[in-house]
Amino acid sequence: MLDFIGIGLGPFNLSLAALLHQQTSLNYQFFDKRQEFNWHAGIQLPNAMMQVPFMADLVSLVEPTSPYSFLNYLKAHQRLYKFYFRENLYIPRQEYNHYCQWVVKQLSHVQFGSRVTDIAPIAGGFQVITEQKGRFSVHQTRKMVLGTGTTPRLPQPLQLIAEQHPQCLHSSNYLHQRDQQLSGNVVLIGSGQSAAEIFIDLFDRQIHPKTGQAKFHLYWLTRSAGFFPMENTPLGLESFSPDYMSYFYHLPHDLKTSLPATQANLYKGISAKTLRDIYERLYQRSIGAAETHVTLAGHYQLENAAVTHGKNIQLKFVQTQKQQNLTLAASTVIAATGYQYPSLDFLNKLSSKIGLNSQHQWHINENHQLDYQGDGEIYIQNTDLHHHGVGTPDLGLGAFRSAKIANQILGEPYFEIEGRQSFQEFQELQPKEIEAAFSMPAIAKNNFRAEAIAAQITKKATDVSAQYSLK
Ligand SMILES: Cc1cc2nc3c(=O)[nH]c(=O)nc-3n(C[C@H](O)[C@H](O)[C@H](O)COP(=O)(O)OP(=O)(O)OC[C@H]3O[C@@H](n4cnc5c(N)ncnc54)[C@H](O)[C@@H]3O)c2cc1C
Repeated sequence: MLDFIGIGLGPFNLSLAALLHQQTSLNYQFFDKRQEFNWHAGIQLPNAMMQVPFMADLVSLVEPTSPYSFLNYLKAHQRLYKFYFRENLYIPRQEYNHYCQWVVKQLSHVQFGSRVTDIAPIAGGFQVITEQKGRFSVHQTRKMVLGTGTTPRLPQPLQLIAEQHPQCLHSSNYLHQRDQQLSGNVVLIGSGQSAAEIFIDLFDRQIHPKTGQAKFHLYWLTRSAGFFPMENTPLGLESFSPDYMSYFYHLPHDLKTSLPATQANLYKGISAKTLRDIYERLYQRSIGAAETHVTLAGHYQLENAAVTHGKNIQLKFVQTQKQQNLTLAASTVIAATGYQYPSLDFLNKLSSKIGLNSQHQWHINENHQLDYQGDGEIYIQNTDLHHHGVGTPDLGLGAFRSAKIANQILGEPYFEIEGRQSFQEFQELQPKEIEAAFSMPAIAKNNFRAEAIAAQITKKATDVSAQYSLK
């Protein structure tokens, strides 16, 4: 029987695999259904940058001396000085992907092309079935770590159409369909970072190089109030610290359920730089009152969609503040409308033993362990926004959470992760014991100090006059 099985090898479980590389006495295996590690391949646009500094790699914020740190990756690729002279903490997403692939190549215990299809409870743990190219394998394990990530979320009116119409797609597939010729109205929906990056890509391909004519009109619509930046200042970013995560965990349950929605500016939105890049493009194109060939608007919610004459997609939006309707005939619709946690059918046989809260959400403890009332233990990487807050999907907390899970699996505090990491107080404030300036003991102490200083001055003055009188 294995000590544990990791399901999914996105950055979070890959972080766990990298942190555990020295644990030779541990028997474990990670499985991923994809053929290889390729991080968000369908939206890996050439100039897209990471939204977290390079230190949010797989290991550094827990084990900076790990051979799998980003700095060691740079060293292995003779890029340390280039990175140093570049003076930028943010790396291209393509480089992050290449770094992760470099780590994957060095790790044992990781198996791609293997999908977990079924898990059943057994004495002492779990029986896990994996499928690889039609062949099924059976494994037994005491513990499991779920790192199955998220799946694309399409607005309800587009869900059926996207299955039949190649010109209706989610942003996660954007690059796979980028070669298609665009014409008519291209409608981009959403106002997150992916939407902004796709906007730039479409904008830059919009004008025919020879004729100078626009090949299509570009609509960028969002149901949000507009196109806003994501928080990127140090005190704001402390909401992604282990301290805030712990604070959030201990908040009242109802508050935890409602709070993430009110913190959208922390983890949704667009990087300020991308917003400036977009604005600059619009500014340049509009010189001399030239037509921009784009329409940008907030408060537009997609209500309905239908395919017309087998070609165009008719979209019905409502302006949510004025309750006005807008109907557009789109040749292409790109929904950059985010991701959601998938329903994990392979857990069905365990579901009666999984503790749920009043909102039917999994109950997960502070150490990321699922409340499972059978034999064995289950840990969760990234599905518990309602327990651990907005930092849950953030790569900057990935190594920290993996280290916490690793300590549980190892049964000892192998990784030192305790201790305060932020300047802000997230725990209950205690009044500081400060001696009042005018309390009697303070006055007495000050008088004593003043007398001592006066005595020193008198002594110095005497010494100096003695020196001079000698000359
Ligand atoms: C385009 C994009 C850019 C992002 N950029 C940033 C950023 O810059 N900074 C940041 O902090 N966050 C970023 N995020 C958010 C987040 O950190 C990433 O989505 C991250 O990939 C989440 O990692 P994960 O390991 O949870 O899941 P994923 O990366 O989604 O990986 C899950 C893996 O589980 C596998 N899997 C699922 N089911 C099974 C099964 N049954 N059997 C076997 N394998 C299975 C999947 O194949 C997949 O490989 C970004 C998200 C997106 C979409």
